[in-house]
Amino acid sequence: MGLFKREKVLINNRLDSLNLEVIDAGEEVVYNLILGNDNVYKPTVKVGDEIEVGMAIAKSTLIPEGFLYSSVSGKVKKLIDSYDYKGRKTAAILIENNKVNSVYNGLTEGHNDKISLLEGLKKYHLLDTKGNELYHNYNRDLDEVTTIIYNATHWDSSTLATPYHLNASTKEILEAVNVLKDTYKNASIFFVFDKASSYNFEKLERTCTSVHFKLVDKSYGYDMSSLLVKENFPKESERSVIVDEFKSLMSIYKAVCLNEPITEEIVSVSVNDSFTKLIKVKIGTKIKDIATALDIKESDYQKVIRNGVISGKALVSTEVSVNQGTASIDYVQVKGLDKERACIRCGACVRVCPVQLYPMELVKHSNKNTLDNFKKYKGMDCVECGLCSYYCPSKISLAHRISLGKSYLTKV
Ligand code: SF4
Ligand code: SF4
Repeated sequence: MGLFKREKVLINNRLDSLNLEVIDAGEEVVYNLILGNDNVYKPTVKVGDEIEVGMAIAKSTLIPEGFLYSSVSGKVKKLIDSYDYKGRKTAAILIENNKVNSVYNGLTEGHNDKISLLEGLKKYHLLDTKGNELYHNYNRDLDEVTTIIYNATHWDSSTLATPYHLNASTKEILEAVNVLKDTYKNASIFFVFDKASSYNFEKLERTCTSVHFKLVDKSYGYDMSSLLVKENFPKESERSVIVDEFKSLMSIYKAVCLNEPITEEIVSVSVNDSFTKLIKVKIGTKIKDIATALDIKESDYQKVIRNGVISGKALVSTEVSVNQGTASIDYVQVKGLDKERACIRCGACVRVCPVQLYPMELVKHSNKNTLDNFKKYKGMDCVECGLCSYYCPSKISLAHRISLGKSYLTKV
């Protein structure tokens, strides 16, 4: 893991200079109408309607209480088809941004009334960085939950906002913690940091005195929750523990404590690893408009990756917009060397795999004909962290192909 360590040192050096820059949304702001795991929304507005910040513009067809809210003010220009961050072509609402940001008076019906955690998660459709609905994670037998873990380990570029929140958002985090304590009365809350990231959490520790701060030996990506529990909380059963991203605490504060929709995200932006900025950006802002605002030229990159170069996803177009759960955007050059070549059997993928798999063997068996062998090599244990692909010198898309193998197996 030598390379990974070096990357962390670089990131830590950069953190000192991270100031939050507020980016204006572009002329056109786009809201995809499929959220999370295939939750389809139907527009509640029509072309020509005047919209304000915080106004509901679409309603969930799956969750009766769930709405989608505008993050800007302006006029509904048209209903279009547009790619989302998962590469799905979905119906979308395009709003012509008047840049006034006038806020809707009745922000939401019952605004400022107290709202429960589960109500807030549904009403504002809170998502994690992988696009999973938080509601499903938190909807448990309330008395049975004994441990709630927030993963604040540094993983990939998508967790650069963590050190910012450790300083700037302690009040919000405390309020979110209080909601959790009121909801799950038998639960202890843990914030988990990795030793190598050396984040300074003293201020938060002084503020959140009821929370346990735990240092662990390595980083865990967002898909590695089971591994985090297995290696650090071995006595916990799946039913009694909730694991979530540290970032979710800020969304819980907004949706539950303020009873307001999430209209912006704090996102780290890098260009070929040459600079990293932390920006506050409106949901619905197109990736290309962020580039323009930050003076990133088209010639500087050919690929844009959402939520981390190791385990994130390349976007199909710069027309894709920021959605809830976007934590980082990396604009990267594709060098000639990035083309896939034959495996040289160097073993790097085996060495970096956090769950001790043989990625190149799994790739051999990730096609429909040899799924028995895929199972035998424990392909279903892959946590899709992306490390094997990232460190493969032959640039083989190992993680992607293993993920395909897993999906074939879940369908048979
Ligand atoms: S993506 Fe690769 S490195 Fe990560 S768990 Fe799966 S096989 Fe291992
Ligand atoms: S890291 Fe790439 S080249 Fe090395 S053994 Fe694994 S698949 Fe082959």
